[in-house]
Amino acid sequence: MGQTAGPGTPAPGAGAPAGPDGTFDAVAAGLYDPSRRRVDYLRISITDRCNERCVYCMPQGLQDWKEREEILTFEEILSVVRLAVRLGFRKFRVTGGEPLVRRDAGDFLRRLGAIEGVQSLGLSTNGTLLAPLAEEIRAAGVQSINISLDTLEAESYRRLTRWDLSSCLEGIAAARRAGFPSLKLNAVLMRGVNDGQIVPLIRFAREQGAVLRFIELMPVSSLEVLTRENFLPVEEAMTRIREVMSLEPAEVRLGHGPAIYYRTGEGGIIGFIGAMTNLHFCESCNKVRLTADGRIRPCLGSHLEFDLRTALRSGQGEAAVEEVFRAAIGLKPAEHEFRDQYRPGRSMTAIGG
Ligand code: SAM
Ligand code: SF4
Repeated sequence: MGQTAGPGTPAPGAGAPAGPDGTFDAVAAGLYDPSRRRVDYLRISITDRCNERCVYCMPQGLQDWKEREEILTFEEILSVVRLAVRLGFRKFRVTGGEPLVRRDAGDFLRRLGAIEGVQSLGLSTNGTLLAPLAEEIRAAGVQSINISLDTLEAESYRRLTRWDLSSCLEGIAAARRAGFPSLKLNAVLMRGVNDGQIVPLIRFAREQGAVLRFIELMPVSSLEVLTRENFLPVEEAMTRIREVMSLEPAEVRLGHGPAIYYRTGEGGIIGFIGAMTNLHFCESCNKVRLTADGRIRPCLGSHLEFDLRTALRSGQGEAAVEEVFRAAIGLKPAEHEFRDQYRPGRSMTAIGG
């Protein structure tokens, strides 16, 4: 499935092969997408279920759980990872839904971490089920753990997630004790909801030795989650922070995501994920997603998906699965469609955050 570059497309970068006529050839290019980005990061959703009900992710009525047989088994996911490694993927992150609601998630992570060629393994979790599992997950080879925390106020945490703040804080404490090389806290910015928590979250993260990242609200799951009233751009968060402490660009690149990092006058590092307002947001995107029901989704903000599960279960062997991977990378959109009246098609938990 050759993909020809359009007019004005820059020449292929080092290592991105061209077809016989000199044009970009996605098949030959392997892990290079049509925008010349090297794609070597696979984000794997292992479940579409969650114990929390975050208002921006799983609004009421949006719990379209998949049947068990629709969800990839751990064996299937591990076989996909082995193939992905052979194709050149090196970075993996396990997410959901809430990955820790799936039984034997710790053992699965251990098996994933043991696959030769998996250089970087991360986990995204809401932290509430983490405390008893943190040691096991660290021992499994998970280096980087991202925990969602939008507020430090118990009442507001309950309103936002329908769960207990204390269990999340216990998860963070356990992650610290387990000694993950990278511990990040993620907060979604919402005007009138948690904007009073910006500075408290910064100070809390610093005390925990964690990097805090502020994420702009995105129109995933349903259109209602993002309104003119509740959207708070990262620029405005930065202005508010500067009223209290200085903020200077930090010459660091942490992890593989699109966050831009700053150092505060109080010594902490903060990342800003301006998915909606940063026009360069997609330029360095290096990932595709594997959904819990076995589809490859090359971009969170585009409905394009490729059915890997059918290929996996077809009995046609690895070549069929590889074909799906290459097709997905070959058609990875240059940028997301969130600014173009994007209408979400399925919940964030189904896609994998
Ligand atoms: N359950 C885990 C968690 O909460 O971290 C992993 C999955 S969750 C879908 C991954 C990330 O997506 C979380 O940091 C969450 O805050 C973020 N997220 C969910 N819905 C979002 C939205 N509408 N806009 C921006 N971020 C969102
Ligand atoms: Fe669950 Fe994470 Fe979505 Fe919240 S953001 S509902 S914790 S999957």
